[in-house]
Amino acid sequence: MTAKIISGIEIAKQITEEIRREVAELKTCHGIVPGLATILVGDDPASHVYVGSKVKTCQNLGIHSERYNLPGSTSEAELQALLGKLNNDPQINGILVQMPVPKHIDETKIIFAINPAKDVDGFHPTSVGRMLIGEPSFLPCTPHGIQVLLERSNINPDGAEVVVVGRSNIVGKPIANILLQKAKYANATVTICHSATRDITDHTRRADILIAAMGKPHFITADMVKDGAVVIDVGTNEIGKTPDGKRILVGDVDFPAVKENAGAITPVPGGVGPMTIIMLMSNTVKAAKMAAGLI
Ligand code: NAP
Repeated sequence: MTAKIISGIEIAKQITEEIRREVAELKTCHGIVPGLATILVGDDPASHVYVGSKVKTCQNLGIHSERYNLPGSTSEAELQALLGKLNNDPQINGILVQMPVPKHIDETKIIFAINPAKDVDGFHPTSVGRMLIGEPSFLPCTPHGIQVLLERSNINPDGAEVVVVGRSNIVGKPIANILLQKAKYANATVTICHSATRDITDHTRRADILIAAMGKPHFITADMVKDGAVVIDVGTNEIGKTPDGKRILVGDVDFPAVKENAGAITPVPGGVGPMTIIMLMSNTVKAAKMAAGLI
């Protein structure tokens, strides 16, 4: 069997067009322009690329964007002050602080300082708590993107055995929680594996849907995957550069081998990655509608 390839590029394109229409309608019918502020502290080249793509996507969709590039020497108090200003700025509906921040800044305090009504990254404890108890909230972008990928590929996790490898706060824990909820395109039986799990293969081979989010290139090999399983590869690992300086990225899954026995699989790049930015845009539009009392 050769797996169906789930294209995040194609699905993200469909959602982009839906959001473009929604943004245009908000402007025409309600005079609302959603606004996203991005904050980057320091000079990390990869972070610059990520923020650049977010700003470009905003522009492409008609979303107002404000970009704050702060020097690496910015103090925690200065960053808090900027957040305070943006928290009260009616033109800004979503605030994104690009992580990681420099070591002298406490990441948790910064996440806590974002107004939960503008928490489009979905990392504030209010969002996390609401997600946990199944209340409407801003879902974190990568895990929400995975759920939407499944939904738009007609793969329903309802009743399925889902195994997540990785328990980070940004991917592993939230995707496990989202798919556990008694809700549409969720309602799965979920197992989470991590570095202290005794026999990972024992778990992964039971998975109807296997989600790899570890940051270990090609860790998931074909013998770890049940025939016909759906494999979602979140891993984005740089293993070198092309002669012209482009990053060579691979996932956590040994794609060439696993695609021969999986039922469906996401590639890297072009799988989960493109979904993350579009879910951020979707959260920004949602925040704008909430601020205007439309939802
Ligand atoms: P992370 O914070 O480093 O967490 C990695 C998780 O994997 C940890 O829970 C760790 O276990 C577990 N792990 C590591 N080695 C393991 C092993 N040998 N066996 C079992 N579990 C192991 O990483 P992350 O932020 O979740 O990101 C994971 C990957 O996804 C990275 O490649 C990242 O670049 C990628 N990513 C992609 C997107 C996207 O938009 N496509 C977004 C976010 C992340 P412990 O908790 O026990 O240490």
